[in-house]
Amino acid sequence: MPQPRVIYWFRTDLRLHDSPALKAALDLKPEFMYPIWTWDPHYVYHARVGSNRWQFLLDCQNDLSKSITKLNPKSKLFLIREAPQTLFPKLFKEWKITHLVYEKDTDAYGRDRDNKVNEIAKEAGVEVITRYGRTLYDSDELVEKNNNKPTMSISQVQAAGAKIGGIPRPVSSPKSLPDPGPTKLSFTQQRPASSPDINAIQRDAEEKSYTSLAGPNGDFAVPSMEELGLKPATTSHRGGETIGLKMLDEIIENEDYTATFEKPKTAPTAFEPQATTLLSPHMHFGSVSCREFYWRVQDVVSKYKGKASKPPVSLTGQLLFRDMYFGAQAALGYAFGQTYNNPQCRFIPWHLPSEIDTKTGLITGKYLVDNAEAEIHFKRWKEGRTGFPWIDALMRQLKLEGWIHHLGRHAVACFLTRGGCYIDWERGAEVFEEWLIDHEAACNIGNWQWLSCTAFFAQFFRCYSPVAFPQKWDKEGEFIRRYVPELKDFDKKYIYEPWKAPIVDQKKWGCLVKGDGSEGAGGATQTYPKPMFDFATQRDICLQGMKNAYHIGLYGNDPKVLDGTWRKLFDDHAEGPTEGTNGPPGAMVKHEDENAEGNGAESDNQETPTAPKDSKKRNGKIGTKEKNEHKRQASQSTLDSMVTRKKKKA
Ligand SMILES: Cc1cc2nc3c(=O)[nH]c(=O)nc-3n(C[C@H](O)[C@H](O)[C@H](O)COP(=O)(O)OP(=O)(O)OC[C@H]3O[C@@H](n4cnc5c(N)ncnc54)[C@H](O)[C@@H]3O)c2cc1C
Repeated sequence: MPQPRVIYWFRTDLRLHDSPALKAALDLKPEFMYPIWTWDPHYVYHARVGSNRWQFLLDCQNDLSKSITKLNPKSKLFLIREAPQTLFPKLFKEWKITHLVYEKDTDAYGRDRDNKVNEIAKEAGVEVITRYGRTLYDSDELVEKNNNKPTMSISQVQAAGAKIGGIPRPVSSPKSLPDPGPTKLSFTQQRPASSPDINAIQRDAEEKSYTSLAGPNGDFAVPSMEELGLKPATTSHRGGETIGLKMLDEIIENEDYTATFEKPKTAPTAFEPQATTLLSPHMHFGSVSCREFYWRVQDVVSKYKGKASKPPVSLTGQLLFRDMYFGAQAALGYAFGQTYNNPQCRFIPWHLPSEIDTKTGLITGKYLVDNAEAEIHFKRWKEGRTGFPWIDALMRQLKLEGWIHHLGRHAVACFLTRGGCYIDWERGAEVFEEWLIDHEAACNIGNWQWLSCTAFFAQFFRCYSPVAFPQKWDKEGEFIRRYVPELKDFDKKYIYEPWKAPIVDQKKWGCLVKGDGSEGAGGATQTYPKPMFDFATQRDICLQGMKNAYHIGLYGNDPKVLDGTWRKLFDDHAEGPTEGTNGPPGAMVKHEDENAEGNGAESDNQETPTAPKDSKKRNGKIGTKEKNEHKRQASQSTLDSMVTRKKKKA
């Protein structure tokens, strides 16, 4: 019997320690083993990935490649620049492969891709071996033990987990690795189309990663940021198993921290060091195994003499939340990532609804501007110039560093959706997808649904104030001074409400509160924007909208949501694009000419939102004038009204 010739396909498991799939590959006792990565155009062009996450990925790949070479100087991470779906049939033949081994992935795209590759392998007579290792439990098994339903609460995860049995202990790291066989590639590369390129905005030079199969030097090296044409990363958080394991060691060394960790008590305003572990990007890329993390924490907890914390607030509880979202995604597939056709997601007629491809039933990644004011709010939120320093500091930290504390994510997500702007959670999830270094589709989507009270959590009357909430953690406003340096000299009395500071003081502290922040920094005197709305008024509008939508009680898969007749149930004056009695599917708004060439639906520019029929004509407001005045009058209240109100109260 000839010895196996194995491809080990690395994906989101960029590590050598605790890899059940890698162990399965080594257990085959292969003659040759090729550790490979396929450079998939899906991620290069079609998934939103900012420079910071690209850098983290390249760090992980380079670190892994070095670790492989340490165990076998002939081996490395062989990075091959072609989509897996077209590459594998050729590669199986060329390298005479008998087995393909990889870690299971239940991500919606990952599952589709793997099903296709499994078919290709079958046709080629290649045996496929998979093991789960990305989550504590096999997400499919978790769903099965949850009566084949998505896991929507921690108690469901715990109950289903108990039926499965214990979380397996980590497997040990390999001490040696087999040689790779001959690595010649005589077939031609199938180059992907580079358009549409959703990541064009991340680049300042031409993208050249597909110039040849084995890279410019023919050595299968990991591409550089320059080759990808990407702007340089701005984060100091770097990737790789070596760094990740060192971070884990440092956490575990601090037994009190590890054993008594209570998430709600960790400060979202802490930086250098942050209050939580910051292991999330390592969880995403698999540069630290979640089971290694779980068991090392659990072992400290088991031996701890004092009172240890417990799930859901403990560190192991955090990992159970992660498994919960993976379980929900595994059960629902693509529908999990959107409201439309999602049986678990409440339908709320948010502003800036997603465009839906009615053929596939999936959101397209573009959205419609039902209200010009909402579009301005969205842009100001994204760019960190809402005029609320707490929100702006967080959004700037997110863009710069790619990571913010969980409660910071709560604050900005609540503010964008049900507790401020009444904008679709899908818009926020897309921004996080672009900027987070730890972006994990399941966790991002699930947490956005939680925060917008569309799934997992329903207490929409509990809102975060952008003033009182951060004050609880950081009275001095150190976090604001760090990320909104215009305000660094403001007295702590005004640090969360700088618009209240007397003009003489604003001048004294070198920053005037005026404008909308669009003019940017510079000039003799610095400026910081006025708040973009009166928060209290806007929160009331949101609360009313949520109450109304909850009362009507539709979910994403309701036939009325699917065909657009949900509008019948909503008063024309209700918040959101609720006018009329029917309309396009989901919360889409009508186009002047749906099929006209050049409308947003066909445009390549993913950044340009699609404008509705009336948005320009009516000065940014839809519906009849009368309706609009009624609907939006509260949100049109100005800073002056806020000041007046506060003054009256004082
Ligand atoms: C709107 C929103 C979007 C989010 N998007 C993501 C995302 O794309 N990717 C992501 O990993 N997390 C996401 N989270 C969850 C959470 O905020 C981060 O996992 C956490 O802040 C990462 O920091 P940490 O590693 O220091 O976490 P720790 O508190 O140290 O927790 C340890 C680990 O547990 C996991 N974890 C902790 N909290 C959660 C949670 N609520 N949901 C899922 N896993 C959790 C992470 O893997 C984390 O590394 C999001 C939260 C919100 C509110």
